[in-house]
Amino acid sequence: MKTEYPDVLVIGLGAMGSATVYQLAKLGVKVVGIDQYTPPHTHGSTHGETRITREAIGEGARFVPLAIRSHQLWREIESQTGQVLLTACGGLILARAGQGSALHGQSDFLGATIRAAEAFGISHQRLDATEIAARFPQFVLRGDECGYFEPGAGYLKPEECVRAQLSLARQHGADLRFGEAVRSVTHLHGKTIVESDRIRYAPGKTIIAAGPWAPQLLPDLKGTLTVRRQVLYWFKRDAVSAHSYLTKDFPIFIWHWGSGADDVFYGFPQMDDSGAIKVATEQQQFSTTPETVQRDVSVAEIAAMHARHIAGKLRGISAHNTKAQTCLYTDTPGANFIIDTLPNMADAIVISACSGHGFKHAAAVGEAVAQMATSGTKPEVLLPFAFNPPPVLAG
Ligand SMILES: Cc1cc2nc3c(=O)[nH]c(=O)nc-3n(C[C@H](O)[C@H](O)[C@H](O)COP(=O)(O)OP(=O)(O)OC[C@H]3O[C@@H](n4cnc5c(N)ncnc54)[C@H](O)[C@@H]3O)c2cc1C
Repeated sequence: MKTEYPDVLVIGLGAMGSATVYQLAKLGVKVVGIDQYTPPHTHGSTHGETRITREAIGEGARFVPLAIRSHQLWREIESQTGQVLLTACGGLILARAGQGSALHGQSDFLGATIRAAEAFGISHQRLDATEIAARFPQFVLRGDECGYFEPGAGYLKPEECVRAQLSLARQHGADLRFGEAVRSVTHLHGKTIVESDRIRYAPGKTIIAAGPWAPQLLPDLKGTLTVRRQVLYWFKRDAVSAHSYLTKDFPIFIWHWGSGADDVFYGFPQMDDSGAIKVATEQQQFSTTPETVQRDVSVAEIAAMHARHIAGKLRGISAHNTKAQTCLYTDTPGANFIIDTLPNMADAIVISACSGHGFKHAAAVGEAVAQMATSGTKPEVLLPFAFNPPPVLAG
């Protein structure tokens, strides 16, 4: 088998890999990026038309610098490609007062979001139920809700973001190879060796951005990462409803409507002429793998989603389902990220275990990982995302 010696090899060109390969190529690094499919694709974690982005990150203040830098980078990439990637339609997080708002490892997601906004000077408004109802009459409220509104929040188009970064990476000289699968990542005499179904690589640095395939590629991560099936649903707006869900009238939202951990869902404005809005929940109960996951979404699942989360909560959204898609989270305990070298592989950096909230940060993660790969030093912004994280991560 032929052996190649790139300066850096990036395995996986989804959200994290496409950002990293672009940033490396921009620095003039001789980089090879490989993916088993042709990204963007629908087999992993980076599909489904939209991803929420916000700067005051309720998952913890440690994520805020990544989100702020990513917003700058998404705008830069837009200006370089002429693509619209980020739509700042505003973002609303709402919960019932005193009922808790557990999400992504935070017991008080709404409170943590407000604290992050205040600490970082992020423009926002705090709204009570009357103010939310006046501004967004689409929500059916009980009257005891409180909300956080961030005007600069909104949604990214994940497939377009991947496409744009891969295209820029190519323009900067990256060698991108699609339809090539890595079979093994091993360590030999202090060096990482990667074997694909075509070539053996002995790179200067290896970046592993394999998303939900990471536990298979790196047995060390098997006990740490859990892959979970999640479902995205599109429901059609009632044609006779007076309520508009267009981007100009409706924000992205995360709504903790009850006190239970599962009493939460999120959604997006209507993006196109289909008249449908996308909504979703999360499940933390069942694990899966990319090979064994049930990709189909059943009629019963769709009906249950509408009955539990939409009916009686969003005015004018019918049970008419236009589409449903399965997508995969790669979760760590506590919903942190892992962006780090592994204990026995100092020349390999794992960057994609992003616990279902990584997309918004991808541009800045790519930039920081490119710096780490070229300088050999972990940038400060990545220090909280260690394989063995320090015990205090809240806030
Ligand atoms: C339903 C859902 C909703 C989400 N909502 C949000 C949101 O609103 N906001 C937000 O910020 N984040 C959100 N996320 C999280 C975010 O989308 C993910 O964190 C991010 O997309 C993960 O990207 P990744 O690069 O790690 O993985 P992927 O995009 O899956 O990329 C991994 C790539 O590696 C390739 N690969 C794997 N193994 C091999 C191999 N052996 N050889 C070659 N190639 C290989 C795969 O083909 C794939 O292209 C959501 C995720 C899901 C699933």
